[in-house]
Amino acid sequence: MRLIHSALLLSLSLLYIPNPISAHFFTNVSSIPPWLNATGSNWESFHNLSGHHFGQSVDGLNRLKSYFHYFGYINGTSNFTDDFDDALKSAVETYQKNFNLNVTGTLDNHTVQQIIKPRCGVADIVNGTSAMNSGKSNNATSSFLSIVARYAFFPGEPRWPEGHYDLTYAFNPEENITNEIRGVFARAFDRWSSVTPLTFELSTSPNSADITIGFFNGEHGDGEPFDGILGTLAHAFSPPSGRFHLDAAESWVVDDDVNKSTSLAAIDLESVAVHEIGHLLGLGHSSVEESIMYPAITTRTRKVELQSDDIMGIQYLYGANPAGNNGSSTPSSGRETSDGGGALISSSLLSIRAFLAVGFGFLLFF
Ligand SMILES: [Zn+2]
Ligand SMILES: [Zn+2]
Repeated sequence: MRLIHSALLLSLSLLYIPNPISAHFFTNVSSIPPWLNATGSNWESFHNLSGHHFGQSVDGLNRLKSYFHYFGYINGTSNFTDDFDDALKSAVETYQKNFNLNVTGTLDNHTVQQIIKPRCGVADIVNGTSAMNSGKSNNATSSFLSIVARYAFFPGEPRWPEGHYDLTYAFNPEENITNEIRGVFARAFDRWSSVTPLTFELSTSPNSADITIGFFNGEHGDGEPFDGILGTLAHAFSPPSGRFHLDAAESWVVDDDVNKSTSLAAIDLESVAVHEIGHLLGLGHSSVEESIMYPAITTRTRKVELQSDDIMGIQYLYGANPAGNNGSSTPSSGRETSDGGGALISSSLLSIRAFLAVGFGFLLFF
């Protein structure tokens, strides 16, 4: 079924030739024009749903159900009602588990605040199976090794095959990609190659490159339309697809301090690129808030350092960098250390990874 779906998407994308659109890039955060200083995305209206709970009927709940459907939390058709029914309650509870919120099943303020945050367009749950907190057995903890890992893979653990670790990437030729933008992506790829045997080289041939990068508006041929300013920011497909798409409507900050932006819509390009490359290499979403593979990102925020959860996940798939760099990023802090006693990143990681896979049920998929 999934193969048929993939084949269908592939044929759709071959038939569909999107109009070339120039994305909004800013090398100076103060140059973001006021009309791009969005007060919020389409999801802002979800604020009106705050405080509602099971049994109620509220205008707009059908849109929230569509949201949960898009990210894998509700199955079925897209003909949703405004009733707060069992399916929505269950979706809210699963979402709350995945995003480390109190599991109330109601649309409390913290939950709504999380829902409206800009995020990656890749689903958290595929084929009814969650790879985040809600799908982990026993919270994936171990007192023996004091490791808490939340990293996850796509169904079947797709990865680039051994012998094809030297990957090439190319930009959609219609884009006006400057040296600064090329530099952002090169740095993002370097972060992953520094902890794995993978290498990434810029190619000028999108037709033959392993990874193709493009900025698009709205529908762009893969059945996953972008939604304008904020909301979904980007998405990427698991190996060996190599398709890496970003929403052209965002205010992409390139080579400037995104924290200094006064625009409420400023998004750091490198932060999103590092996350999406994780998908291109085979990682799914993680519930570790500090990790790169956490699905949401706050505007005006830079988050580019791989965390221990990201590094453990990627090294499970590919092993460590043969040059001996097993990851210089700082270990995740916060909830990882609070409930698991700290994360472990060391040269012994590879020897324990098989144990991790069997012992903790890490091979749970989307
Ligand atoms: Zn993602
Ligand atoms: Zn796409």
